[in-house]
Amino acid sequence: VDEITHFFSLNKVKYLPTIKNTESSGGHKINFYIGLKAISEVITHEVELKNDSANTSQINIEYTVPQLPKAPTWAKFLLNFKISGWKFYTYISLPLLALAVGYSLLLWNYYSLSYFSLIYLISFLMIAVSFYFWLKPFYEAIDKRIGIAPYWLVRLSVISAQLRYVRTATKRDNGQYIRALQLVVYQAECPICSNRVLIEKGSNAQRGRLVGVCDESPREHVFSFDHVTKKGMLLR
Ligand SMILES: [Zn+2]
Repeated sequence: VDEITHFFSLNKVKYLPTIKNTESSGGHKINFYIGLKAISEVITHEVELKNDSANTSQINIEYTVPQLPKAPTWAKFLLNFKISGWKFYTYISLPLLALAVGYSLLLWNYYSLSYFSLIYLISFLMIAVSFYFWLKPFYEAIDKRIGIAPYWLVRLSVISAQLRYVRTATKRDNGQYIRALQLVVYQAECPICSNRVLIEKGSNAQRGRLVGVCDESPREHVFSFDHVTKKGMLLR
């Protein structure tokens, strides 16, 4: 009977049919009938506890933006402006322009190779490569809406900052919001060891993502990061 009761309680059955009898009230006649017997609540509680422990095995984290860090004065022109109209097209056309200049320099070298043309090509390549590394974080932030801010944009007191490509209140003619680049710092308290969690670029399995990494256990306390919901969960 115990096994049957347990089986039914697992399937959320609360009562079992059972044979009952009326009490003999003075006379000799006893009536038997089929009644319901409540399954002990202890068993159902055990099942609920199992469900609860399954839910809590997922560890969640919530990020906050405690501060909007100030960029160094000389870098302010890069931020704080609304990217629209010609500025937006500059962002797109800059790599294309570099490609066109590089290709024409290459052609020049191919048809009339001289020290002069070679110096032009090499110096152009050096400028292009340094521009690539300088502007890459900005392109990433514009493309993915959020990226890691370059270290030269952040004051030394800030360990890790992000570049966010935020919507402004105004819309463009085509109905899309005008966006602007903004420097932010997302951080959180580690739900496992309550140390500081900072946003970093994910590596290996987390490649291409931004992840929250714990200061104290950077290999194991790694959390997903969504800058829209400001939430995440333990990744390993
Ligand atoms: Zn931790």
